[in-house]
Amino acid sequence: MITKTKKVYYCSYCKKHGLSSYHMKRHEERCTRNLDRVCGFCGGRVEYREKITAYKNRIDKELLQPGEPGMVTEDPAYQKVIDDILIEIIDDFETCPACVLTVVRELLRQLPPWVTFNYDYKAEVAKWWEGTKE
Ligand SMILES: [Zn+2]
Ligand SMILES: [Zn+2]
Repeated sequence: MITKTKKVYYCSYCKKHGLSSYHMKRHEERCTRNLDRVCGFCGGRVEYREKITAYKNRIDKELLQPGEPGMVTEDPAYQKVIDDILIEIIDDFETCPACVLTVVRELLRQLPPWVTFNYDYKAEVAKWWEGTKE
């Protein structure tokens, strides 16, 4: 029997791992949980933190006023605010799915657990590649 011990490389930001340090380094640079990422889709280097803070402040202002703990997902007015902000985020990043996911993921981390963004990342990625073929 042969036993081999191999190094496993883990992304510092998400759960992804693999046996190639080269590939993991490349992934980390583009990982959508890395706020200093370079986008592998649109090629952009974006000030994600600034944009996330701006969106977070707006969501807080519009939804999470102190003394209004009754805000829940069942409230259609509430979901409308999130839906509208998502449309703006998509527009802000010129539909780049990886940039949008980076922002949405970080916002979800910062916001209360009942907040959801109706964003279909896989479908948006498919649309993106469809668009680049033209
Ligand atoms: Zn990662
Ligand atoms: Zn991008």
